[in-house]
Amino acid sequence: MNRVLRQLEWAPGRRQKLPPEIPLRRLRPRALPAIVSLMRKGQQSWTTGVLPIAVLIAMLLTLMILQLRWSREISEAERDRLEQSLNRSTALFQSAFSRDLLGLCRSLQTPASGDWKSTKSEIFSRYGAWIRVSGRSALVEGIYFRQQTNAGGILHFDPEHQKLVPTAVPASLKEALGQNGRNLPRRPDQWVWDGEMPGLIHPVYVASNTIGASGSVHPQLYGYLIVLFHTRYFEQLYLPEIARRAFPPAGGFLFQIVHQDREGGRHVIYRSAETVPTGAFARADAEASLLPDGGVTRLKSGASSVVSLSSRPPAWWILVRHHAGSVNAAATELRHRNLGISIAVLLVLAASLLIIVLATLRARRLARLEMEFATGVSHELRTPLAVIRSAAENLADGVVTEQNRVREYGTMIHREGRRLSAMVDHILDFAALHSEARTYNLEPVSAASVIQAAIASSLPVAESAEIAIQTSIPGNLPLLNTDPGALRQCLENLIGNAVKYGKDGRKIEITALRGESGLVHLRVRDYGSGIAPEDRPYIFDPFYRGAGARTSAIRGTGLGLSLTRQIMEALGGKVTVVHPPEGGTAFTLHIPTANR
Ligand code: ADP
Repeated sequence: MNRVLRQLEWAPGRRQKLPPEIPLRRLRPRALPAIVSLMRKGQQSWTTGVLPIAVLIAMLLTLMILQLRWSREISEAERDRLEQSLNRSTALFQSAFSRDLLGLCRSLQTPASGDWKSTKSEIFSRYGAWIRVSGRSALVEGIYFRQQTNAGGILHFDPEHQKLVPTAVPASLKEALGQNGRNLPRRPDQWVWDGEMPGLIHPVYVASNTIGASGSVHPQLYGYLIVLFHTRYFEQLYLPEIARRAFPPAGGFLFQIVHQDREGGRHVIYRSAETVPTGAFARADAEASLLPDGGVTRLKSGASSVVSLSSRPPAWWILVRHHAGSVNAAATELRHRNLGISIAVLLVLAASLLIIVLATLRARRLARLEMEFATGVSHELRTPLAVIRSAAENLADGVVTEQNRVREYGTMIHREGRRLSAMVDHILDFAALHSEARTYNLEPVSAASVIQAAIASSLPVAESAEIAIQTSIPGNLPLLNTDPGALRQCLENLIGNAVKYGKDGRKIEITALRGESGLVHLRVRDYGSGIAPEDRPYIFDPFYRGAGARTSAIRGTGLGLSLTRQIMEALGGKVTVVHPPEGGTAFTLHIPTANR
């Protein structure tokens, strides 16, 4: 007897109760050392697996820090780039204006060597030429002349009739000549831009009658040429056009052209984006007058003719801001966008890492469960086999001859054989489900018939465990649309578990209920010790066996519930479990009915 028990001791806590007189042959658990060594290897590789994960996490954090720095550098570089582009565009805008203005001055600049008559006809011919070639003739409303002595009032150059016509003084012109009279230009090459008119003022010199000692003729200031700009054209077409060229929409800058009156009040003349409120330019990125610094620009257009352009206090301004609000805001926005994208990428990486870790943990757990399964199943197979073999040998050797004892041996062989085939069936079913080889034939079937069939096959086990099975099946249940064999198998699994784990409760209740939305519920309730909370999340996992099941040496493969769940899902239903507070466990199969 001691020998027998010693040989079976390799599965802790499991001692086969055999009739003492059955002499067992030696059973050597050869597979065990190999399994144990495999499990150890699994643990080792887990230890080594932690290191790469730690390294990956460290790399992820390093990447995050680098990313933070890099995005700051990028944003500063972007700010510099925007500022440079803003300066370039502003310079472009100013140079476009001064180029046009200087072109006009140069065209109208007359030599101071002739008398007034020849100077006048020179101006007519130059003016006419400018109108023909400049392409901007609409910019000039008219050219006027006022003698230095103010005799004859203001004369208008009529290019069509080549005549100087006395005219009423336009208000803007009067102001320019009158109020700022002291600041009127004096040098023959000098042109002054007056933004208030808007227009240009230029002194006209003619040869004087006095001849110098050297015989040279002294030029003498004769009067002023006034080039009056067409205000509407200048404001509404000309300025917006050169501004748009300097600040194209693709550059990301918005602009406003404003006119500043003598009191310093500013009036918006044009804005590049109507949707942006004028107040948004209160803190502009750049503010530029039409001519750089209102300073002097000298242009040499050949050996003789020099034009010098200066400006009275600027009256026209362009205000520029980035469409993001400001250059700073644009750089910050870029930084946030860069950071957002990189953090999203890093998060995706981290999530993938997490998924890999979880998958690895799950794979390891499954591998461990499979190991335990292999250990458990080999034990489960060996024990009944040992009983069957020993009983058969005893019978064959004539050790047992008594009629009663022979019957007892026969029953034992039958019982162990049935348990063996049930176990093999479980494993084959599991394999078939996983290879999707199993097919189901759904047909209308009564719940009562399936329940009765399942009870009939489970009854011997229940009776030997002295457990009563009570049923409650209402008469008006609809027919089920299911595979009766597969459903019976699920029910048998649940009843088998209720018998195995609910022994203390002494009874099992099987209840059928008509559910909502075309379902019938079959509930198997036991009054045993229930499922431990730490086991609950895993009981439907393949090969999982509860700690209690293992320590109290209750036989099983850990496949029953996993099979039940997969079969129920294949049948269009499901299995659920509740843990009543008063103890025990209640599993419910939810099955679709035939007339949904
Ligand atoms: P097995 O019964 O072969 O161990 P199962 O897949 O049928 O495998 O069950 C998985 C685990 O769920 C069991 O090991 C047991 O811990 C627990 N369990 C299942 N049914 C019950 C029940 N009625 N009462 C208590 N525990 C149960």
